[in-house]
Amino acid sequence: MVALTGTVQKGTAILMRVSIAMQDRPGEIRDRAGAVLASPHAWALFLDIDGTLLGMAPTPDAVAVPPELPSLLASLAVGLDGALAIVTGRRVAEADRLLAPVKLVASGVHGTELRQDPDGPVKMLAQPVPAEVIEMMTSVSRIAEGILVEQKGSGAAVHYRNAPLAQRAIESEVARIIGRSAYDLVLRRGRKVLEAVPRGFSKGQALIDFMRRPPFKGRRPLMIGDDVGDETALTAAEALSGMGLKVAGEHFALAEADFGGVTEVRSWLGLLAERLGRKPAEWIAQPAQHG
Ligand SMILES: [Mg+2]
Repeated sequence: MVALTGTVQKGTAILMRVSIAMQDRPGEIRDRAGAVLASPHAWALFLDIDGTLLGMAPTPDAVAVPPELPSLLASLAVGLDGALAIVTGRRVAEADRLLAPVKLVASGVHGTELRQDPDGPVKMLAQPVPAEVIEMMTSVSRIAEGILVEQKGSGAAVHYRNAPLAQRAIESEVARIIGRSAYDLVLRRGRKVLEAVPRGFSKGQALIDFMRRPPFKGRRPLMIGDDVGDETALTAAEALSGMGLKVAGEHFALAEADFGGVTEVRSWLGLLAERLGRKPAEWIAQPAQHG
C-alpha cells in the first residue's frame, strides 16, 4: 500500500492513521500511490463514492458521511486547480446531497450525467429510460422482501443487499426487461446491485472525456474505485499514463487492492491534500451540513 517511511510528518492525526493502517496490512506492500504524493500537482483525481469514499450501507440512503469529507474534497479540488471529479453510479444530485454544501465536477449514473463546472447545470447525455421500462423495473421489487428499486433518470438500479438470495431471480428478470426493451440498455453488475443503463456509457468514457478538457488536460489521471463499474475508469486512467487504484471490498480482494478500505482512502486523501499545500484545518474545522 502506501509507504510512508521517511515521509510521515509527526503530530498529524491523519498521517498517524495511515501508518497504523499500513501496519495492519498483510502480504506484499504496494506503493503505487507514492508516485502521486511525490508530484501531487501533476495529477487529476477521479473518485468513486460508494465503497471508495463512503462505507457500504444496507441501502444507498443509509450511508454515513464523515463530517470532514466534503471539506477535504473541496480542499483537494482547490489544490489540484479544479482537476478533481466524482465518477459515480449515483445521480449527480445524490452526490451533491451527500457532500453538501460542497459541489464538485461530477459524472453520474455511470457516465450518463455530466457536470463539467461545479456551479453549472447537470447535463443528461443519454435519453431518460422509457416509462414502460421504469414500470417493469419497479415490479422487480416484488420478487422478494428487501429489494429496493431506484430510478435514476437515464438508468435504473435494483439493490438486493437486504435480499441476497434473490440475486439470480433479479438478474434474470432485469436481463429479460433489457432484452424486451426497444431502448438500448445493458446490464451492469455492482456490489449487491444490478443496473440497467444505456449502452455506450461508462465511468471510463467519462474519465476519457474529462481528460480532453481543462483543467484535466495535460495531467495524469488517478482513478480510485472499488467495483465492477469502476474497472473501465481504472483501465482508462492507466491507458492515459495515469493510475487506477483499487479499494478492497466485495469486488477487489485485499491482496490485489491498493487500499484496504474507505478509511485508508480518506486518510491517504488527507495526506495528498497536505502535499498539495492544503492545511488540515481547512477540512477538519468546518463540519459540513448534511441534508
Ligand atoms: Mg463504488
